[in-house]
Amino acid sequence: MQKRDQLYEGKAKIIYATDDPDHVIVYFKDDATAFNGLKKDSIFGKGELNAKISTVFFKLLAEHGFPTHFVEQLNERELLAKKLEIIPVEVVVRNIAAGSLVKRLGFSEGQLLPCVIREFYYKNDALGDPLVNEYHLEALGASTFEQLSELSRQALEVNRILRTFLAKHDLDLVDFKLEFGLFHGQILLGDEITPDTCRFWDATSGEKLDKDRFRQDLGGLTEAYAEVYRRIIQG
Ligand code: UDP
Repeated sequence: MQKRDQLYEGKAKIIYATDDPDHVIVYFKDDATAFNGLKKDSIFGKGELNAKISTVFFKLLAEHGFPTHFVEQLNERELLAKKLEIIPVEVVVRNIAAGSLVKRLGFSEGQLLPCVIREFYYKNDALGDPLVNEYHLEALGASTFEQLSELSRQALEVNRILRTFLAKHDLDLVDFKLEFGLFHGQILLGDEITPDTCRFWDATSGEKLDKDRFRQDLGGLTEAYAEVYRRIIQG
């Protein structure tokens, strides 16, 4: 498949067209951003690790019969994926309290949540991706009630598959964000599954092995991402 024009450049990825209208190339950059782009840096090796880690998770989901946009890894930084019409909703799933949940609702960081929490955010940079409910999204024309219930169902299934897998590698899946899109009318999981979009903690020591190392200036980000990769490729 031939790489064509750049279609979109995001904070951590670039999407390229291909000579096939149904497929795109996803390129993982080394750039790291946080706090709505206010904090920025380039961290050598991050893009490559994220491409590899996403590949492992998308393949794992496929093994469980869960379809996604992932087709194959093309090279160290690029994946071939189905071209989705993105639904402008971020679905966050939480198992353990961290991040905005702690700040906003007063849960203590590290507290195991009595139930799995699912949240919707409206994908809109100008508005800062606000937390919304299904009525807001329906009124905004961002997604229908029916689509949201499917997104919610799929997000819970991804949580079940990833959480069980990660536990075997001594990693806690604290929370994560998913994005979905339509491929010829079918809702498919898109975007990435990486330590940029998930919180992974060492289940024994509680050490943070994700983008919080950047957000909180803890250092050792590539080492942490490499450790996640090392663990998840072990049998
Ligand atoms: N997340 C993300 N992109 C965003 C916001 C959140 O990937 O724009 C992920 C984040 O990495 C974490 C989960 O979603 O795994 C929940 O994030 P939270 O709402 O706690 O926000 P944060 O405190 O990370 O900004």
